[in-house]
Amino acid sequence: MQKPTVIIRQASYDYATLKPLVFELADFYCGDRIRAGSRVVIKPNLLAPASPDKAIVTHPLVVKAVAEYALSRGARVQISDSQAMGSFRKVLAESGLAETLKGLAVEIREFRESVEVDVGEPFRKIELARDAVQADLLINLPKLKTHTQMRMTLGVKNLFGCVVGMRKPEWHLRTGVNRELFALLLVKIHDALKPCFTLIDGILAMEGQGPGRSGTPRELGIVAAGGNTFALDSFTCGMLGMDPLSVLTNKTAGDMGHLPGDVEVVGNVPVVKGFRTPDITPLVFGPAMLHGVMRRHLVQRPLPDEAACRLCGECWKYCPARAIKRTEQRITIDYDTCIRCYCCIEVCPHAALRAEEPLLGKAFRRLRR
Ligand code: SF4
Ligand code: SF4
Repeated sequence: MQKPTVIIRQASYDYATLKPLVFELADFYCGDRIRAGSRVVIKPNLLAPASPDKAIVTHPLVVKAVAEYALSRGARVQISDSQAMGSFRKVLAESGLAETLKGLAVEIREFRESVEVDVGEPFRKIELARDAVQADLLINLPKLKTHTQMRMTLGVKNLFGCVVGMRKPEWHLRTGVNRELFALLLVKIHDALKPCFTLIDGILAMEGQGPGRSGTPRELGIVAAGGNTFALDSFTCGMLGMDPLSVLTNKTAGDMGHLPGDVEVVGNVPVVKGFRTPDITPLVFGPAMLHGVMRRHLVQRPLPDEAACRLCGECWKYCPARAIKRTEQRITIDYDTCIRCYCCIEVCPHAALRAEEPLLGKAFRRLRR
């Protein structure tokens, strides 16, 4: 495998410096591939309606700079995602993207139509956004964030947004409690879409209980780019002080022979201290007959904060297992049905859900150590 290049740069949201930096990175990775008339689809992270200071969505100025670069090469540019909650219009308004892109000749639209793509065993055909599949070039713009289910959401995970609408929770349900299987699905989706390059917005990143409102914004002041998403994601995890293989998408990519042994890193790698990631406990292990009991008593579960919950309904609408019910004054979660996908935490607009490990789980984990 050819040695891939990862570029890391100090950056800020000052557009006068951000734009030339993004142009330089985009030019390095896809300057020779964008031609006049090319259909370029830019896929930021537009998870939910949120202002940029919450670090939930890719910053609109990063999107703008990439769009301007593609336009400068004569491309036809589309900016799309499939949000997990709220309307696309609301996401564009609250993120500031609609305002920031005003006046640019770009098409901004939600992924709606899907096409079937055969990603091989064990999933075979999955439906992915037609626009992303049929683009001449796909540019991947993730936000650097923690993720309660997968530990981190970076380049590979960002492309799950190319699964349209409610197909996302369906896939969560199909992969169930098996995080390895979900990671494999993410790697397969990446391989089907083959982004031409990935630029991670880590200027204002997120640590703690991400990727939604329960996470904590943290200023890192960096962007990282790569043509090989697996190399880029693994490098980024290492930079944050993590074992890259503790993130299952990286490990899966490694098992599939996608992770290069050697990477050329260009730029000064910052020392990031104390970056907080969510605890990821194994969901189940040992004999199958014990998995149900283990899941109930040992594995982190979503816990509602009654004081913060506004009974808005986002969590129970999205829950793939239909495990959340509303009673008169609060929500209840059926932990036997819950598959621990943590989507509810991700979509809750009021940070009213968090992942909490049962006491028995904590004690058991200490014992295992
Ligand atoms: S937990 Fe969050 S998403 Fe669910 S109803 Fe309450 S506020 Fe809404
Ligand atoms: S309750 Fe939350 S964690 Fe459990 S299945 Fe539903 S969305 Fe997933």
